[in-house]
Amino acid sequence: SRPDKDSKYPKILLMGLRRSGKSSIQKVVFHKMSPNETLFLESTSLIVKEDIANSSFFQFSIWDFPGQIDFFDSTFESEKIFDNCGAIIFVIDAQDDYSEAMATLSETITRAHNVSRDIKFEVFIHKVDGLSDDIKIETQRDIHQRSSDDLMESGLEDRVQLSFYLTSIYDHSIFEAFSKVIQKLIPQLPALEDLLNLFVSRTRIEKAFLFDVGSKIYIATDSSPVDMQSYELCCNMIDVVIDVSCIYGLSDENDESAFDHKSSSVIKLNNSTTLYLKEISRVLAMVCIFRSENYALPGNVKHIFLDICEHNDAC
Ligand code: GDP
Repeated sequence: SRPDKDSKYPKILLMGLRRSGKSSIQKVVFHKMSPNETLFLESTSLIVKEDIANSSFFQFSIWDFPGQIDFFDSTFESEKIFDNCGAIIFVIDAQDDYSEAMATLSETITRAHNVSRDIKFEVFIHKVDGLSDDIKIETQRDIHQRSSDDLMESGLEDRVQLSFYLTSIYDHSIFEAFSKVIQKLIPQLPALEDLLNLFVSRTRIEKAFLFDVGSKIYIATDSSPVDMQSYELCCNMIDVVIDVSCIYGLSDENDESAFDHKSSSVIKLNNSTTLYLKEISRVLAMVCIFRSENYALPGNVKHIFLDICEHNDAC
């Protein structure tokens, strides 16, 4: 489709009511803001557009919309906004009454679908840190049901696919949800998954993630299930490697980046699990999880990674 004038990259739109958490999500995921700092974020009345391209494996333009969107306002240019849009992330504050949010979601879907049939609709049921497990499930069920009813009413039930995620900036759920949203927009995903499956099946590695280092979004993983704890461990490992590299790895003369072709790390945990991180490109790292006893077996993890290091230029 025709590229938008503002940016050459496909757009991801962050939409939802005022104070639902849109700016916080963007700041935490892409600017390493700590969740507590988001308490002091100022509301803006403008669309904030940001290209995520140079420091990332993926290239998108993320648009953060201010509070209430008035589709009936003549200055709202649906065509321009929804054109070249890959996904709309619609953020719903689950700690608040969400009736109005549901109505806006429904309106957003109808408008966007009129402009482009390819937009993916991703609903973040957000701020679930304040909810008990029972309420979380009940809220998800209720939002799911209400949005199905709304789609039915607008005759879009067979044409629009909605995905739902329970998210909070206070844990890794927001990174995991963003990872899944981004993965759907990466054309190379099936090829990467095949490669990771092959890699895991030929080694004694239990789980392998390909990470975008800057955002800690995972681009792909093998097909075994992702558990949140493993994902969190890998995210923490990236933080540790970058922090230690920033302190000890940079010399004055060279480097702009603490993450380079020499970056790799092994962390052995006290539960007989070992984590291995290896740089793949300027912006990508592979992080693997496996049982510690497999690390030094001949032909296994350690040797494979030594091989990878030796042949890294060819990667
Ligand atoms: P926006 O108007 O949609 O951009 O909303 P903001 O990003 O300004 O967030 C509004 C408020 O929600 C801020 O005080 C944030 O600290 C808070 N907030 C955002 N995300 C979360 C979350 O996951 N959990 C909780 N408890 N509060 C959040």
